[in-house]
Amino acid sequence: MYLKVNRMFTSLRKYGWIFTVIIAIGGRWEPKLGLAVLFIMAGLTMTSLFMGRYWCGNICPHGSLFDSLLPISKNKKIPEFLKSKAAIVGFLLFFMLNIFRKVSAVASYWGTYDFLDKLGFIFSNTYLVVMIVGGLLAVFITPRTWCQFCPMGTMQKASHFIGDKIGLSKKTNKRITIESIDKCISCGKCEKVCPFQLSPYKNFNENNQFDDIDCIQCSTCIANCPLKILSLENTRQGKEYKKVYEVDQNY
Ligand code: SF4
Ligand code: SF4
Repeated sequence: MYLKVNRMFTSLRKYGWIFTVIIAIGGRWEPKLGLAVLFIMAGLTMTSLFMGRYWCGNICPHGSLFDSLLPISKNKKIPEFLKSKAAIVGFLLFFMLNIFRKVSAVASYWGTYDFLDKLGFIFSNTYLVVMIVGGLLAVFITPRTWCQFCPMGTMQKASHFIGDKIGLSKKTNKRITIESIDKCISCGKCEKVCPFQLSPYKNFNENNQFDDIDCIQCSTCIANCPLKILSLENTRQGKEYKKVYEVDQNY
């Protein structure tokens, strides 16, 4: 049912996985490499304030790794329970408690030469575990299975919620936008190629936009729509699209 199509539209998406391998494997020998994960966490939290889950679809090194496994993936339907609130919240709590426990344990080394090594090792190790578990899920289910309950994805959703409420994302957050709902032939290709198995064509809102917090703005549906009627636009542009089409229809 789901199609395997190219998702690597930029160099970052094509080669970002190398960063994952360096942090996860290189961290065995140089634990300080793991400290880079702190910058990643800061980066994804900041970008999501303005752009939702853009990071997941375009910058995340683990996402790049999982997508690169598509050729050998079974590309099956993602089990519903992995997308459930219970799985998402449960996994976030598990992750937070685990990190808190480990960081508390190394806090006693503060001020010593070993502190940064021990702290870095925690994050490098986490990167390695995600690489193995997420990689196995990618091969045996579909590449973006891990992303359904990834704690970093959940943090981005929370950050985006705040950005939305205080108006930060109004102009910057883009959504999949259709030229006109009437033009869609409901072929379902946008759903079949979507790494998150979302269904844009069944869920366009009054502004001709697909407003789903889980959309990672990866543009795979845009590249594969046979009519080329999809694009990524902010809310204002979406409303303008609609207006232009309505004017055209009245002529
Ligand atoms: S791929 Fe394009 S034409 Fe097909 S269902 Fe999606 S939006 Fe409609
Ligand atoms: S709806 Fe389109 S842009 Fe959003 S995740 Fe699916 S394929 Fe990517």
